[in-house]
Amino acid sequence: MEFTRVQELVAEHGTPILFLSESRSREAYRNLAAALPGVDLYYAVKSNAQPQLISILETEERSFFDVCTNGEIDIVKRCGVRAERCLHTHPIKRDSDIRYALDYGIKLFVCDNEDELLKFIPYKNEAGILIRMSIQNPGCLVNLSQKFGVAPEKTYDLIKKAHDMGLCVKGISFHAGSQNENPLKYIEALDYCKDICGRAALAGINIEIIDIGGGFPISYLTQVLPIASFCQPIVEYISRYFTNYRIIAEPGRVLSGPTMTLATKVMGRSLRNGVWWYYLDEGIYGSFSGKMFDHADYPMFLGSMGGERYNSVLAGPTCDSIDVLYENISLPLLEIGDVLVFESMGAYTVASASNFNGFPKAKIVVVE
Ligand SMILES: *Cc1c(COP(=O)(O)O)cnc(C)c1O
Repeated sequence: MEFTRVQELVAEHGTPILFLSESRSREAYRNLAAALPGVDLYYAVKSNAQPQLISILETEERSFFDVCTNGEIDIVKRCGVRAERCLHTHPIKRDSDIRYALDYGIKLFVCDNEDELLKFIPYKNEAGILIRMSIQNPGCLVNLSQKFGVAPEKTYDLIKKAHDMGLCVKGISFHAGSQNENPLKYIEALDYCKDICGRAALAGINIEIIDIGGGFPISYLTQVLPIASFCQPIVEYISRYFTNYRIIAEPGRVLSGPTMTLATKVMGRSLRNGVWWYYLDEGIYGSFSGKMFDHADYPMFLGSMGGERYNSVLAGPTCDSIDVLYENISLPLLEIGDVLVFESMGAYTVASASNFNGFPKAKIVVVE
C-alpha cells in the first residue's frame, strides 16, 4: 500500500489497524489455484478466521474450507459457506464435535489413530474418513506432524483397520510442515501415498482422495520461490501418478498471509543505555503474536528512511518484558506519533492475538 494512503486511513480509523486487501486476497487464491490446476483448495480457517476474508474467498470459483472446531464451523456458516464445501481436519474430536459437524452437513473427517476411528462407528453411513499420515520436516518453521499423524509405515494398517470396522475410508492426508520451503517434502509424502494406495487397492479398498495439506510458503524478510515454480514438481508428480484421484489441499498461510498490512504508531520513546527504545501501540500480545507462536518475522516499512541512523529497539505496548518485537535494528530517529507499516501480517497474527493488559485488538478495515 502507498504510505500516503496508509496515513489517510490511519487518520480516519486510528491505530493499531490491519488493512485487509480484497484484491490481494483474490490474487493469492487465484495464483495458488493456477499453480495447482485441478486441485481443490480448502482454505485453512485456522490461519485467519476473519469473516471478511472468508466471505471474499467464499465468492471465488470452486473454493472450499478446512475447519477444525465448532467455532470455525459457526464462522463459515455465518459467511454463507455450505457444508458440502467444508472438510473437518481436526484429528481429535469429541463425540459432540462430530455430531455438530455432521448436523451442519460436513461429511469428510480426519483420523490418525484407532480410538478416533471407533468414535465414527455410529456414523459410518454418513462420514467419510481421511487417514492423516505424519511427515517429519525438522527444517521447517512450524512442524505439524509432531502432534498428529500416523507414521507412513503404519498408515496402510490403519486404513485396513478402518475398513474392517466398516468405516468408509476416502483417502489419505498429510501436512508437510508450515512455511515449508522444500517442495520435495510433498513428493516424499506422495511417494508414500502411492505405495499405500497400491496396497489398499489389492485389499479391495478404493482410495479416492489425496489431501496434500497446507504448508505453502510466503515471503517475509526473505523471498521464497514464486508459487507456480514451487508447485511445479508437485503438479508433475500428481499428473504422473495420481490422475485417477481427487487431489485436495488445505492452504492457510499462502492465502491469508499476504492479505493484511499492519499500521502501528510510536506511543513513546526512551534513550536507554545508548539505544533508542520505541514503544508501539501493537505488540506480541496483539497482531505480532505470530512472532511468538508462528516464529515469523514481518517486513517493516517507514515513511522515510533518510537521515542518521541509531541502534534501536521496537517494543509492544504491554508491561511485559517479553513484549519486544525487534532488537538491534538500525533506524532513523522516530518521533512519537510516527506510523510504522508491516507487511505479510495476515497469517497466524490476529488469529492468536489477545486483549492482554487491556489493549484492544487491532481494528480491521477492508481496502481495495
Ligand atoms: C494449520 C493447518 C493447515 C494450514 O497450514 P498452512 O501452513 O498455514 O498452509 C492445514 N491443514 C491442517 C490440518 C492444519 O493444521
